[in-house]
Amino acid sequence: MKKETVCVHGAGDYGFDDPTGAVCVPIYQSATFKHKGLNKSTGFDYSRLSNPTRLAVEKTVAALEGGAGASAFSTGMAAISALCEIFSPGDGIVASHDLYGGAIRLFRNISQKNGLTVDFADTSDLDAVRAAIKPNTRAVFIETPTNPMMLVSDVEAIAKIAKPLGILTIVDNTFLTPYFFKPLSLGADIVVHSGTKFLCGHNDTLAGFLASATAELAEKFITVEKTTGACLSPFDSFLVLRGIKTLGLRMERGQQNAFEIAKFLSAHPRVKKVYYAGLESNGGYEILKRQAEGFGCMISFEVDSVETVERVLGGVKLIAFAESLGGAETLVTYPAVQTHADVPKNERDARGINDRLLRLSVGIENAGDLIEDLAAALGR
Ligand SMILES: *Cc1c(COP(=O)(O)O)cnc(C)c1O
Repeated sequence: MKKETVCVHGAGDYGFDDPTGAVCVPIYQSATFKHKGLNKSTGFDYSRLSNPTRLAVEKTVAALEGGAGASAFSTGMAAISALCEIFSPGDGIVASHDLYGGAIRLFRNISQKNGLTVDFADTSDLDAVRAAIKPNTRAVFIETPTNPMMLVSDVEAIAKIAKPLGILTIVDNTFLTPYFFKPLSLGADIVVHSGTKFLCGHNDTLAGFLASATAELAEKFITVEKTTGACLSPFDSFLVLRGIKTLGLRMERGQQNAFEIAKFLSAHPRVKKVYYAGLESNGGYEILKRQAEGFGCMISFEVDSVETVERVLGGVKLIAFAESLGGAETLVTYPAVQTHADVPKNERDARGINDRLLRLSVGIENAGDLIEDLAAALGR
């Protein structure tokens, strides 16, 4: 089945039969499941271990990513925390230096305390990846394109470096989603998602996923999920399943809008730089053209002054000044004070996350309306 069909119909076989013939997977809002007798489980015993609605969304995400299995967590950060549980004190992780702020906070403040060493490197530079790998390195954690600088990593080349060394390649695929990008098919071992974003797609719930290339890894995450307990609720599982049905339509439309907005911003006198993976001027354009089926809906741009930032954030009417991304609604974010506030200022500056940088999550509204809103807020 092609990806558009998988989005609508899911994995097909959810591993359970609903006797009513419901077209949509029902919300099995039950903490526990009764047994007909000794050793006569329906396959479901207690919802932390497994729940039919959650199983359906897990199988759908696994099918979309082309993985052997997937586990659904209450948030993206819960998924990344669960991921860290497969490592042991003394193990090392090499992570993209331009990473989601929450992932940096987790690695710095919690993983290191638990004995993992985390080295940040520019994973868009293969030499930097090779140089960062140490004898204790167990994984390379990549975000591509990165948040917020849109740096693109060559996942295939990194997996080729990592695999012979027994190092796992892990990709946060939140931005491109399996609709545009399939890291497991390029040799990655694990895909991470903030399902809160494009997978759910409506800014109305939080979710996280880990999809694995092998059954062995998938089994490890099932054990972590049921043991540490941050699993996705039945209702939230339903919302993500519902969101995924329109993933393809939303990604196509958001990307189309993003191209038009990137073009508008590039020509605007108050805009100094535009970072969009779909622009040929973006460093990773050629890699994505080869490895992905799209460039996504995320744009960062640098304006001429902090005054312009203030005017944009206070002036947009249709676009909401709010954290997060990936929903039907277009949002504008100020990384230096929102998502990346916890990253030390000197590091932010070195990476271009200065106080003139804004990030757009382009939604599925009319592109002309969005451009008009931006134009009015930017001033001419
Ligand atoms: C939002 C986000 C996360 C964290 O997900 P939550 O659902 O907010 O916990 C991780 N990675 C990326 C790229 C994100 O955008």
